[in-house]
Amino acid sequence: MKSLYEDIFTFLKDYFANYLSYNLNYPFIKPWRVNFDITHRCPLRCKTCSVWKKNPEVDEELSLEELKKLLEKMKEWGVDHVSFAGGETLVRKNDVIELISLASSMNMRADLITSGYFLDKKTCERLLKAKVSKISISLDGAKRETHDFIRGRGNYDKVIRTAKNLVSLKAEFKSNVELEFTTVVTGYNFRELIDIFNLMQDLGFDYVNYQVITPDNTFTKGLEYYRDFYESNFWINGNDLNLLKRIALKLVKLKKTGKIRNTRDYLLMMPKYFEKKEKFNVGKCIVGFSYLNIDPYGNISVCGLGPNLNVNDGNINNLWNSKEYKKTRFKIKRCKRPCLMLCYERLDFKILFKAWLELRGWLS
Ligand code: SF4
Ligand code: SF4
Repeated sequence: MKSLYEDIFTFLKDYFANYLSYNLNYPFIKPWRVNFDITHRCPLRCKTCSVWKKNPEVDEELSLEELKKLLEKMKEWGVDHVSFAGGETLVRKNDVIELISLASSMNMRADLITSGYFLDKKTCERLLKAKVSKISISLDGAKRETHDFIRGRGNYDKVIRTAKNLVSLKAEFKSNVELEFTTVVTGYNFRELIDIFNLMQDLGFDYVNYQVITPDNTFTKGLEYYRDFYESNFWINGNDLNLLKRIALKLVKLKKTGKIRNTRDYLLMMPKYFEKKEKFNVGKCIVGFSYLNIDPYGNISVCGLGPNLNVNDGNINNLWNSKEYKKTRFKIKRCKRPCLMLCYERLDFKILFKAWLELRGWLS
């Protein structure tokens, strides 16, 4: 267990490493999390998502053996936090469970992000036995009709059933797994954000994490598409913004329970994000230093901005320090996409320090 001084020292060291990395455009740090999008396949057709519209190249996906080797290389490199996402991650159920088991055997934190579609009781048990650190399930409405409108008929009942199974298995296995709902905030469900929080508590889940909708989660479309999207019912406009502000303030109060993952700043920025649209101030985005994303085919991609490298192009440390990555980090500095994604972090001492205090329960 670290002492308070060590903890403060680590925070300051990390902040200055980020500061220097960003300003000198050189990575003095390793990513704090590596995410594997292990497939683009998905049985759902969520209205908030464009990933399922891609044509998945199944034969080109990294094999289990390749992924295992990559995981071991990450560990050697010093990464101790990985996550597995999709498409629908559990399309590759057996592979994912084996990868989580390998990661936990190497003392790495391994999170699973899923729609819950394939999470039957047996799979939940296998995941807990593999020592998954967190299971994050999408929940887009407190009401069945809201969630199912976004994610497809029958999905709400499946998610609730799965949540109940997970809570009882967590107790039975005496597991430390964190059970979390993730909600994509849109014009269709923002009125239910407090009810989603209450539902999460009633079900015995540990956390809820709100993620404002991004017009294009494939990062392939131009600003014209964004402008049309702002006029759609997915966006929150007009008088609804005042209601969202009031809801955000209530959520800030509910943060005292310790069950809302978002920082206070994130919650308060949500109405601004919807209000300002293209003018939303992105600030200094450090995603190019803090986070590494690997797509199903081994390509390293940061929000569609490059670096067009593949994990098979060489040693991961060399790729991270490469010229191509450097160019991508320049592009990130110029990124003007309105953005409040959960992987996005601003280089802002006040925001990061407040988030650090909140994480320790010293600020709510
Ligand atoms: S949001 Fe997830 S579950 Fe829904 S269609 Fe996209 S990849 Fe599939
Ligand atoms: S601001 Fe950062 S995280 Fe957001 S889209 Fe741009 S590069 Fe990506």
